[in-house]
Amino acid sequence: MKQVDAIKLDKLAGVRIKEKDTFAFRCYAGIGCFNRCCRNLNLFLYPYDVVRLKQTLGISSDEFLDTHVDVVLRPQNFFPEVLLRMSENDEKTCPFLAESGCLVYPDRPDTCRTFPIEQGILFDADTKKNTPVYFFRPPEFCLGQHEAAQWTISSWTDDQEAEYYHKMTIRWAEIKRMFQKDPWGQEGPQGAKAKMAFMAIYNIDQFREFIFQSSFLRRYRVKSAILAKIKTDDVELLKFGFEWVKFFLWGIKSKKLKPR
Ligand code: SF4
Ligand code: SF4
Repeated sequence: MKQVDAIKLDKLAGVRIKEKDTFAFRCYAGIGCFNRCCRNLNLFLYPYDVVRLKQTLGISSDEFLDTHVDVVLRPQNFFPEVLLRMSENDEKTCPFLAESGCLVYPDRPDTCRTFPIEQGILFDADTKKNTPVYFFRPPEFCLGQHEAAQWTISSWTDDQEAEYYHKMTIRWAEIKRMFQKDPWGQEGPQGAKAKMAFMAIYNIDQFREFIFQSSFLRRYRVKSAILAKIKTDDVELLKFGFEWVKFFLWGIKSKKLKPR
């Protein structure tokens, strides 16, 4: 999910698809390019993607991060990107790709669902509103773009069961935007605070341990109903993590927690 600058909107690659616009696309097993798109990718994983993938794989978030991602801190960025690590074969295939297709299809990441559309977030500094923007950007080899089926963003989102993914990605993008300014001070982006924020956002099993097995609950008051949820529900825990990071780094108050 790119943060998009209004001035550069028309200069971005691809065709912008607005609410009522349509685009042609169909992908199916047996199409000439089947699976060609699932290789050699810079596939960004958002926090909710990691929750869904680690759940479907039946492993902890820690193990998932160790095994499947590269964490990259780009210059002038203050929070790292998390990319799915491609397999070490000549074609650098996605680790979840099989001849029959995607092995994690019901839990595939937001970017895979949205493809061949790319989403961005347009932030209006005056109104402080975030608006999603969409671009049709299939690679040349993708034959699906020559099929007859027509979609709007809305019908495509429904078809791909992507609505909740988009919602969670936008929620994260709003926080990610805050990292355009350095929140770390002298500690820098490798310091203890940065490690804790990363844990709350991406390593939620470890974050759960941190909440329930450290002094966290002596430092923060959290309603028992919320505690009961986050004890077992990864998605609730992720949302709680978003709130905690906003409070921890920028002092943004939340109904979910209060300092003691
Ligand atoms: S390249 Fe396009 S049509 Fe071919 S498998 Fe990928 S998404 Fe489907
Ligand atoms: S997760 Fe699935 S859909 Fe996404 S790149 Fe990998 S194999 Fe393809």
